[in-house]
Amino acid sequence: MNKTPILIAGPCSAETEEQVMTTATALARLGITIFRAGIWKPRTRPGCFEGVGTIGFPWLQRVQHELGMKVVVEVGNPHHVEEALKAGVDKVWIGARTSANPFAVQAVAEALRGTDIPVLVKNPINPDLELWLGALERFQRQGINNLTAVLRGFSCYEKTIYRNPPLWDIALELRRRMPELTFLCDPSHICGRRDLIPDVCRQALDLGFDGLMIESHCTPDAAWSDAAQQLTPDALADILASLK
Ligand code: PEP
Ligand code: MN
Repeated sequence: MNKTPILIAGPCSAETEEQVMTTATALARLGITIFRAGIWKPRTRPGCFEGVGTIGFPWLQRVQHELGMKVVVEVGNPHHVEEALKAGVDKVWIGARTSANPFAVQAVAEALRGTDIPVLVKNPINPDLELWLGALERFQRQGINNLTAVLRGFSCYEKTIYRNPPLWDIALELRRRMPELTFLCDPSHICGRRDLIPDVCRQALDLGFDGLMIESHCTPDAAWSDAAQQLTPDALADILASLK
């Protein structure tokens, strides 16, 4: 590895103040400086945990002020953007289901117009390079140029070992078309299970990705979303050590 990879880590979802602070404290000790946590969760089926909502923002503000970390949350509509900006988040990410919907991306991009907040755009759930590219262009057209593309794998009907196969070539082609972007890999949503994560991290860095966005939770098996793919901060530390 030639340069230090960018690392973003944190739970799939902010669940409680204690879970956020315990996880973030452990991650800060590893030297991680960017904390992710979903406040609103785009669940496939209704009735699942859909995020704590705005009550989670004061917890993230503690992470910023007490631990000195930057925080990033998912936004999927203009209301989320308004609340996230009001709460002073440092960055936002666009989830895979939102990236697949040009109306939603346009609305979020317009809501962010006039800010210079960094935006991370995950690949759309379906393997369509043009749709990913189009989502990024919608932000650029609103004057938002601090853009990162995040490969989190693609839905496919066939069963594979991965939850969302990475289809690396799509991201590599996007990089050829938009070389000015930062490229991250999200091995958590690609793998769907923690034992596959080290290998996907290694592959991503070998392929030249600039960094990783990884789900980490203080008690992963008890997580309210994506339990099987979340790593304890200790397990994450082992993976990071193995990548050096
Ligand atoms: C997440 O990061 O927790 C998430 C919901 O991501 P994705 O949009 O990749 O499914
Ligand atoms: Mn998740």
